[in-house]
Order: sequence, then structure tokens, then C-alpha cells
Amino acid sequence: MPLNRRVKRLLALIALVVVSVFIIRKIKHSGTPQVSQQQQEESLRTTALKHPGSSPPSPNPLLQEVGEPDGILTRIGDTDRPRASATLLSLVRNSELRGIVRTMQDVERTFNSKFNYPWTFFNDEPFTEEFKRRTQEMTKAPCRYELIPKEHWETPPWINKDIVAVSGQILVEDNIMYAKQQSYHKMCRWNSGMFYKHPALKDVRWYWRIEPNTRYYCSIDYDVFRYMEDNDKTYGYVINIYDAPQSIRSLWPTTMEFVAQHPEYVNPNNALQWLTDSEIRPDHNVIANGYSTCHFWSNFEIGDMNFFRSDAYDKYFEYLDHAGGFFYERWGDAPVHSIGLGLFLDKSKIHWFKDIGYLHMPYYNCPASKKCSGCQAGRFTDAGYLNRENCIDNFFKYVHAD
Ligand code: GDP
Ligand code: MN
Repeated sequence: MPLNRRVKRLLALIALVVVSVFIIRKIKHSGTPQVSQQQQEESLRTTALKHPGSSPPSPNPLLQEVGEPDGILTRIGDTDRPRASATLLSLVRNSELRGIVRTMQDVERTFNSKFNYPWTFFNDEPFTEEFKRRTQEMTKAPCRYELIPKEHWETPPWINKDIVAVSGQILVEDNIMYAKQQSYHKMCRWNSGMFYKHPALKDVRWYWRIEPNTRYYCSIDYDVFRYMEDNDKTYGYVINIYDAPQSIRSLWPTTMEFVAQHPEYVNPNNALQWLTDSEIRPDHNVIANGYSTCHFWSNFEIGDMNFFRSDAYDKYFEYLDHAGGFFYERWGDAPVHSIGLGLFLDKSKIHWFKDIGYLHMPYYNCPASKKCSGCQAGRFTDAGYLNRENCIDNFFKYVHAD
């Protein structure tokens, strides 16, 4: 073989080896993100979201000693102060008895054994005697067991079953959890616009939503309901996260139709910028047609039912309900509450209960505080790659700039 052909072959061989090594390294580093210990620690030091371009990552406020909120606090023994009209509220199935008992244990230990607010349990089926006995054993406060009326739970008559079947398939293809589980869609609708209409809550103003299998880690030594009332708050949350945009493609456009018909309901001090951010997860904003998908994670909420009963919110819910997205898409109560609050409420009335240590798998709110045990301060999730789902920085950027 002439020399230059040999050289050419050699060069081709070297090139092949280099390209192969490059490809193999690429393959090794793709797939499930590998998060090193160092990266995990870094994400604990800063909240997950980094504003592109300008500002540096925000320091994680949960890593500085977290105390009780400023403002008027009512403590055990402050008997001169009236109790709030309030209940611990749980929508739960009989099959979730163990999970709710475990959570009741946490809530009673950290808060309610001191303040004794009643529990109200809701179900679309009658609670079993065992459920009633075992839950009542967990608390000295009264427990009420309420059946949800069919007209609040069942799929409304204007929903077309054929469209549900076809659109359910699209949700499956988009990998949306619970896509075809009709009970999940009913649950989201009930939590969006029905719970506050239940006759058992007619004379109750405040609720704290409690889900089975959630955990509470920190001692709460003031009355959270009185805190809300005395400090002019309407809604309290612990976790702010992104939603799956494919589950709510038409929620924002439908909301905009409603707002166009009722501009008078929009609060001048609203949180619209938080709802419409497109900088941090632009893909979410595109798929959700203008909504950032950032929302209060509603498996925890402490709220004023009078807000949800207001014309603004309740008419908004009615509009959404007739548009059909609870069944044709998978609109969750979390984005629906969040959009309603973000548009119709004065944003200064929204409160982050950063002092309440909480877990609903897979996300935590874990403050640095001597009052807490069992969760690691600053931790948002055990699965490092999920840190990007945290959007609490967004809320601070646009709503609580301080
Ligand atoms: P996820 O957190 O979105 O995965 O949904 P969950 O399964 O935790 O449901 C949210 C809440 O609704 C929990 O408190 C459940 O116990 C409750 N729930 C969900 N589906 C039903 C249902 O069909 N009947 C009743 N009674 N409760 C339900
Ligand atoms: Mn849940």
C-alpha cells in the first residue's frame, strides 16, 4: 500500500476512535440526570430557580432561622380572644384510613391538641363505622363526617362522554397522571368549586385542608386561624410549584374569556405577573397558552371560604365548570385556586407559612427552627432533579419583593 494511503487509513482510524469515545461519553451522561452530592448541597443553599440573565440565585430563606410570623399572634391561654370560626377539613376515602390517622397524629401533636379545632371529614361515599371510630380516637376535638351531595360530585350533565373518552386518550399520550380516572377529575372539581358550598360548612369561615399521608414536622404555638383573621390574610400556602402544562392547556385562555366579561373582578393589586411569567420555564408558558403554571400546592391550604364564596371566585368557577376542562382536560384545583387568588385578591393577603414544616411526597417545606424535627432544613425534595419544579422564587420576585 502506498504510504499516503496508509497515513489516510491511520488518520481515519484515529478519527473513528475519537468520535466513538465522544458518543459513548454522551450516552453515559444522558438519560436520568445524575445529581452529585455537591450539586444537591448547592441546591439546598439556593432555591432551585435561577433567574436567567440578571440576578444571582436567591438565598434559601428556609436556611436562616425561621421564627413565627410578625403580627398579632394568639397563644394558648389567651382566653380573652375569641376563637376563629374554623375547621380542619379533609376529603378522604375509607381506604385511606391509615394515611389520615398518621397525618392526624402529626397535626394533633404539632397544633391541634393545643387549640382543639373541630375536624370535618368529607367523602363521596358514607364513612364506615371503623373510619369514624379510629379518627375520633386521634383527637379530643369533635369530628364530623359528611357525605358529599351527588349534585356536587357527579359529572355535570353538560359534559359530553364521547369527548371525555377522546380527550382522555390525548391526556394519556401526554403522560398526564390520572388522565382517565374519572374520580380524580371529580375530586379536582369538588376542591375547586364545591367544598365551600357544602351545607355543613355554612357557618364556618376558615379551613385548613389536610390530606392523608402528609407529614407535619414543626410545633405551631399560635392559632393559625386567628393569625389569618387578625392580620388581614385570606390564603396561606407552604409550597409553590409548576404544574404539568399539558393538563391545563385551555385554562388560561378560558380564564381570559371570563376576565374579558368581568373586568370589574380583577383586583388592582393582583399577582398577574406571577401567573404569567414566561422567563423561567418558557416552555410551560407556551404549552399552557400564557400561564406560567406556577401555583400554590393546594394539598395544604389555610383559607378564608368567604373569598371562594365571593361573586368573583364563584362566578369564575361556574364559568370554568361550563367550559368543561375539569373533564376534557385535567384542570387541578391547585391552579384554579391560584389563578382565582392571583387575579381577584389583593396579593398582600397571601401568606407563606414558612414556619410550618410539611411533606406531601415528593416535596417539602422545611424551615430551620428548633421547633422542627424530622425534616432537613432547606430541603425541597429528596430527588435532586425535581428541584426545578420549585417556583417559590417566582412568587417573591413578583409578589413579595421583600
Ligand atoms: P394527588 O395528591 O394529586 O396525587 O391526589 P390524591 O390522591 O392525594 O387526592 C387528593 C385528595 O382527595 C386526598 O385527600 C384524597 O384522599 C382525596 N380523594 C381523591 N379521590 C377521591 C375520591 O374519589 N373520593 C374521596 N372521598 N376522596 C378522594
Ligand atoms: Mn395528595
